[in-house]
Amino acid sequence: MPGPVIACPHCGTKNRLPLVAKGTPRCAHCKQPLPWLVDAGDGDFDQVVDTKALVVVDLWAPWCGPCRMIAPVLETLSKELAGQVKVVKVNVDDSPRIAMKYKAQSIPMILLMDRGEVVDTIIGAQPAPVLRSQITGALDRRG
Ligand SMILES: [Zn+2]
Repeated sequence: MPGPVIACPHCGTKNRLPLVAKGTPRCAHCKQPLPWLVDAGDGDFDQVVDTKALVVVDLWAPWCGPCRMIAPVLETLSKELAGQVKVVKVNVDDSPRIAMKYKAQSIPMILLMDRGEVVDTIIGAQPAPVLRSQITGALDRRG
Protein backbone atom coordinates (compact mmCIF):
# COMPACT_ATOMS: atom_id res chain seq x y z
CA MET A 1 0.00 0.00 0.00
CA PRO A 2 1.69 3.25 -1.08
CA GLY A 3 1.33 6.22 1.26
CA PRO A 4 1.54 9.94 0.46
CA VAL A 5 4.78 11.64 -0.55
CA ILE A 6 5.91 14.49 1.73
CA ALA A 7 8.92 16.78 1.84
CA CYS A 8 11.07 16.31 4.94
CA PRO A 9 10.64 19.41 7.18
CA HIS A 10 14.35 19.29 8.03
CA CYS A 11 16.11 18.84 4.68
CA GLY A 12 13.36 18.97 2.03
CA THR A 13 14.00 15.48 0.68
CA LYS A 14 10.82 13.89 -0.66
CA ASN A 15 9.86 10.73 1.18
CA ARG A 16 6.97 8.34 0.65
CA LEU A 17 5.25 7.73 3.99
CA PRO A 18 4.31 4.17 4.84
CA LEU A 19 0.61 3.60 5.57
CA VAL A 20 1.40 0.59 7.70
CA ALA A 21 4.52 0.25 9.86
CA LYS A 22 5.37 -0.69 13.42
CA GLY A 23 8.12 1.88 13.85
CA THR A 24 7.79 5.56 12.97
CA PRO A 25 9.08 6.80 9.59
CA ARG A 26 12.36 8.66 9.24
CA CYS A 27 13.74 10.74 6.40
CA ALA A 28 15.80 8.62 4.01
CA HIS A 29 18.36 11.43 3.76
CA CYS A 30 18.78 13.12 7.20
CA LYS A 31 17.18 10.37 9.37
CA GLN A 32 15.00 12.85 11.27
CA PRO A 33 11.52 11.59 12.21
CA LEU A 34 8.90 12.50 9.61
CA PRO A 35 5.44 13.84 10.42
CA TRP A 36 3.12 10.88 9.91
CA LEU A 37 -0.33 11.79 8.64
CA VAL A 38 -2.25 9.34 6.48
CA ASP A 39 -5.79 8.52 5.40
CA ALA A 40 -7.50 5.27 6.27
CA GLY A 41 -10.93 3.74 5.82
CA ASP A 42 -12.98 0.65 6.55
CA GLY A 43 -10.69 -1.59 4.51
CA ASP A 44 -7.32 -0.74 6.04
CA PHE A 45 -8.06 0.93 9.40
CA ASP A 46 -7.10 -1.99 11.64
CA GLN A 47 -3.72 -2.36 9.93
CA VAL A 48 -3.06 1.38 9.87
CA VAL A 49 -3.66 1.85 13.63
CA ASP A 50 -1.46 -1.16 14.45
CA THR A 51 1.72 0.73 15.28
CA LYS A 52 3.92 1.63 18.24
CA ALA A 53 3.17 5.36 17.89
CA LEU A 54 0.23 6.97 19.69
CA VAL A 55 -2.50 7.06 17.04
CA VAL A 56 -4.60 10.21 16.70
CA VAL A 57 -7.67 9.25 14.69
CA ASP A 58 -9.52 12.18 13.13
CA LEU A 59 -13.10 11.21 12.27
CA TRP A 60 -14.26 13.84 9.80
CA ALA A 61 -16.48 14.48 6.78
CA PRO A 62 -16.22 16.90 3.86
CA TRP A 63 -19.47 18.72 4.82
CA CYS A 64 -18.35 19.33 8.41
CA GLY A 65 -17.15 22.93 8.92
CA PRO A 66 -15.60 22.44 12.38
CA CYS A 67 -13.65 19.47 10.97
CA ARG A 68 -11.91 21.88 8.60
CA MET A 69 -10.92 24.04 11.59
CA ILE A 70 -9.06 21.28 13.39
CA ALA A 71 -7.43 19.72 10.29
CA PRO A 72 -4.55 22.25 10.21
CA VAL A 73 -4.08 21.92 13.99
CA LEU A 74 -3.62 18.17 13.64
CA GLU A 75 -1.25 18.71 10.74
CA THR A 76 0.87 21.04 12.90
CA LEU A 77 0.83 18.57 15.80
CA SER A 78 1.92 15.76 13.47
CA LYS A 79 5.03 17.87 12.75
CA GLU A 80 5.67 18.94 16.36
CA LEU A 81 5.26 15.40 17.64
CA ALA A 82 6.92 13.60 14.72
CA GLY A 83 8.29 10.26 15.84
CA GLN A 84 5.69 9.97 18.63
CA VAL A 85 2.29 10.17 16.97
CA LYS A 86 0.56 8.93 13.85
CA VAL A 87 -2.41 11.00 12.66
CA VAL A 88 -4.96 8.89 10.82
CA LYS A 89 -7.77 10.70 9.02
CA VAL A 90 -10.98 8.77 8.44
CA ASN A 91 -13.76 10.18 6.26
CA VAL A 92 -16.82 8.78 8.07
CA ASP A 93 -19.03 9.11 4.98
CA ASP A 94 -16.76 6.64 3.18
CA SER A 95 -16.19 4.45 6.25
CA PRO A 96 -19.55 3.40 7.76
CA ARG A 97 -18.00 0.47 9.63
CA ILE A 98 -15.56 2.70 11.56
CA ALA A 99 -18.24 5.36 12.14
CA MET A 100 -20.54 2.75 13.68
CA LYS A 101 -17.84 0.98 15.67
CA TYR A 102 -16.70 4.20 17.37
CA LYS A 103 -20.19 5.78 17.51
CA ALA A 104 -19.13 8.85 15.56
CA GLN A 105 -22.52 10.59 15.62
CA SER A 106 -20.96 13.93 16.44
CA ILE A 107 -17.94 15.02 14.44
CA PRO A 108 -15.24 16.14 14.55
CA MET A 109 -14.36 13.35 16.92
CA ILE A 110 -10.79 12.42 17.74
CA LEU A 111 -9.79 9.07 19.18
CA LEU A 112 -6.44 8.60 20.84
CA MET A 113 -5.41 4.98 20.38
CA ASP A 114 -2.56 3.14 22.05
CA ARG A 115 -1.83 -0.27 20.52
CA GLY A 116 -5.37 -0.67 19.25
CA GLU A 117 -7.12 0.52 22.44
CA VAL A 118 -8.95 3.85 22.64
CA VAL A 119 -7.38 5.72 25.58
CA ASP A 120 -9.11 9.09 25.12
CA THR A 121 -11.87 10.66 23.02
CA ILE A 122 -12.12 14.33 22.10
CA ILE A 123 -15.47 15.48 20.74
CA GLY A 124 -16.04 18.73 18.90
CA ALA A 125 -13.63 21.28 17.46
CA GLN A 126 -11.52 22.00 20.53
CA PRO A 127 -9.01 24.86 20.48
CA ALA A 128 -5.43 23.98 19.53
CA PRO A 129 -4.05 24.18 23.12
CA VAL A 130 -6.72 21.72 24.32
CA LEU A 131 -5.95 19.26 21.53
CA ARG A 132 -2.24 19.58 22.20
CA SER A 133 -2.57 18.98 25.95
CA GLN A 134 -4.89 15.97 25.49
CA ILE A 135 -2.42 14.39 23.07
CA THR A 136 0.74 15.19 25.06
CA GLY A 137 -1.10 14.00 28.20
CA ALA A 138 -1.76 10.64 26.56
CA LEU A 139 1.91 10.49 25.51
CA ASP A 140 3.03 11.24 29.07
CA ARG A 141 0.79 8.50 30.46
CA ARG A 142 2.49 5.92 28.23
CA GLY A 143 5.75 6.77 30.02
ZN1 LIG B 1 15.38 14.95 5.88
